[in-house]
Amino acid sequence: MYFIGVDIGGTGVQAGIVNESGNILFRKECTTNVNSGFESVMDDINTLVRELIKENNLNMDDIKSIGFGVPSFINKSGLVTCVNLGWHEVDFMQALKSRFPDVSVYAENDATVAALGEAKFGSMKDKNIAVMYTLGTGVGGGIIINGKAFTGANGMGSEIGHTVIGENYFNCNCGNNGCLETFCSATAIIKHAQKLIEEGKNSKILELAENNLQNINAKMVFDAYRENDVVALETINRFKSYLAKAMSGMINTLDPDVISIGGGVSRASDIILDGIEDLIRQQILYKKEDFAEIVCANLGADAGIIGAAFLN
Ligand SMILES: [Zn+2]
Repeated sequence: MYFIGVDIGGTGVQAGIVNESGNILFRKECTTNVNSGFESVMDDINTLVRELIKENNLNMDDIKSIGFGVPSFINKSGLVTCVNLGWHEVDFMQALKSRFPDVSVYAENDATVAALGEAKFGSMKDKNIAVMYTLGTGVGGGIIINGKAFTGANGMGSEIGHTVIGENYFNCNCGNNGCLETFCSATAIIKHAQKLIEEGKNSKILELAENNLQNINAKMVFDAYRENDVVALETINRFKSYLAKAMSGMINTLDPDVISIGGGVSRASDIILDGIEDLIRQQILYKKEDFAEIVCANLGADAGIIGAAFLN
């Protein structure tokens, strides 16, 4: 028996046939034609999945289930609103069921799906209570309890990125001030480095960005950190202190077995993990007790396909 995982993104859709051991055996992708509208994107996804099955000499009967990761929240009624895709309260689950009537279909938020992949086969394998922070352009979250994605009573749980953890000098896209996303995303790192440089601090980062503030990316800030650049040190230390604050709150609330850090920012895993447990211990309530192991994700972008395949 095989499973299919589909990761729907703002620019492309990735699909994979996954075996019971979590290995992606075959892949296929297509672009997300956002401008063509919801029904058309769903038709493209239908074609993608059916071609993937056919090209690898399989039938729909060989597929146990198809799971989908979407870059948004899916409400209790299966409706999806996603600004990046131009979808407003579209009936996503119904659209899936009508296109795939003979197979079980499931869908979840993409960060939750990635967490499930990491919990089944990656950095959080064999842990009962697992939490993942996906640090990219924004901050996503996934909570996996006993191998199942946990999204709460109304499906809107695990939006860890919008936990308010302080006051910040700019507002979050959601309208609030102080969301974790505004302290710990790649965007937050870039903005803070730009701010310090604009205030007149000298930094190697500007050189890496060819003297254009707009060229700065998170990797440049981490690279400069390795060379003890003052702006990079201040920016990354601030990022880590807020990340530790968020994780301390998570430990006080949920006391997970493991917390994994994924997303593009986690490529600097050595810098992020260095000293993070001490920062967390200073802030949790029961300082002498064991607490969650802090790790970085290890499936990369495949977590989205693998996790989606194992939704049920
Ligand atoms: Zn927010």
